[in-house]
Amino acid sequence: MLNSSQPSTHLTRRMLVFMLVGALLGMALRQFETSQGWLVYEFALPLFEVIGQGFISLLKMLVVPLVFVSLICGISTLSDASNMGRLTAKTIALYLLTTVIAISLAMLMASVLQPGHSVEQSMTDVDVNIPAAPALYEVILDMIPTNPVQALADGNMLQIIIFAVLLGLAISQSGQAGQKIARGFTTINEVMLALVMLVMRCAPWGVLALMAKLTLTLGVSAFASLANYFLVVVAVLLVQLLLVYPTLLKVFSGLNPWIFLKKMRQAQLFAFGTSSSYATLPVTMQTLVDNMGVKRLLASFTLPLGSTINMDGTAIMQGVATVFIAQMYQIDLSMGQYVMIVVMATCASIGTAGVPSVGLITLAMVLQQVNVPVEGIAMIMAVDRLLDMLRTAVNISGDAMVTLLVAHSEAALDHQVYAQPVLPESKIAAPLAEASSYPVG
Ligand code: ASP
Repeated sequence: MLNSSQPSTHLTRRMLVFMLVGALLGMALRQFETSQGWLVYEFALPLFEVIGQGFISLLKMLVVPLVFVSLICGISTLSDASNMGRLTAKTIALYLLTTVIAISLAMLMASVLQPGHSVEQSMTDVDVNIPAAPALYEVILDMIPTNPVQALADGNMLQIIIFAVLLGLAISQSGQAGQKIARGFTTINEVMLALVMLVMRCAPWGVLALMAKLTLTLGVSAFASLANYFLVVVAVLLVQLLLVYPTLLKVFSGLNPWIFLKKMRQAQLFAFGTSSSYATLPVTMQTLVDNMGVKRLLASFTLPLGSTINMDGTAIMQGVATVFIAQMYQIDLSMGQYVMIVVMATCASIGTAGVPSVGLITLAMVLQQVNVPVEGIAMIMAVDRLLDMLRTAVNISGDAMVTLLVAHSEAALDHQVYAQPVLPESKIAAPLAEASSYPVG
């Protein structure tokens, strides 16, 4: 049906098939562990290691430029809204609020359900050397980059974020000169997204190797623990979508949440198919403007901003993943570390571009910040493709819910249109075709 979703759907299918093949290959090779030890330890394992770790290195390679450029793009677009200070502040505050709720919920549920404790000890059989946590004032002081180039070279995420935000603000306040630079960064952003797509092409092979290594070294129990992780993420995503959003909508605007959920279905399906908030943008926009009665001017500011800086579903995955990996490595997270995860996952959500799988990349910065081994990402990668589809649907729902709240409070919502029944399929065909021109994988 949709050009843009085809490569993504294709990739999803390929990933699933390759994952399965990898898992079976690992299990099959496990049978030869004693009889043909050389085949397993001198050939298969090193091969899987090179391909799997190579893929992880490629992903890590993307983190710094991606976060830096997409943050600058997000912040510098605020210039268009310089005369809408109140609206901007309100929108950003609500986006941050939904993200903080999402990540807190994720960590709470992951701490109670403990998906990482059932993992075999051997899975985390690496030396974990955790340096002592620095004092709070040192953390704050260390956030300010004395040398931004060094911050970029060192991959110091907090410093990079501070620099990118300040630079983005400066760009938005520099008139014509700023606009030129903003256009430049938008171009770089597009190229960065193309680079992500390029790396994603290796994803099936990377996942095959990682899965094969996983099942070869661990056996079937790895799946059981991944299933726990998967189910906890899905559970929190559902709570956010079916409980948190409807409650916020009802309490702050009095709007009927059932209508919201019903009318969002089409856009959610599209998000599920493309795994990209950006690609879904025209559909979300059409849904909000035509089906729910939000003024176009407002929606065309809040939704693109949301698809850049508001990723509740991604924050949920990152919250559960951080607690899960910490549990696997038997690291007890302190209260301060929990707070740090909330702060970092919120920053990561702002820095995550609305394209497939970027959430997994920015997860590295959350883990790094709380001294949880980044290698843990390898464990959850196998199920991330599917989770990406689900969390993207939540990401765009969060953008839509906040847009409704802002529209209601700014008297930019037609309540009659909101209450009307959903438009027939034919009426939403146009924006779907339009969406195919968006850069998705
Ligand atoms: N695919 C997500 C989005 O576009 C981002 C991510 O979590 O990877 O919203």
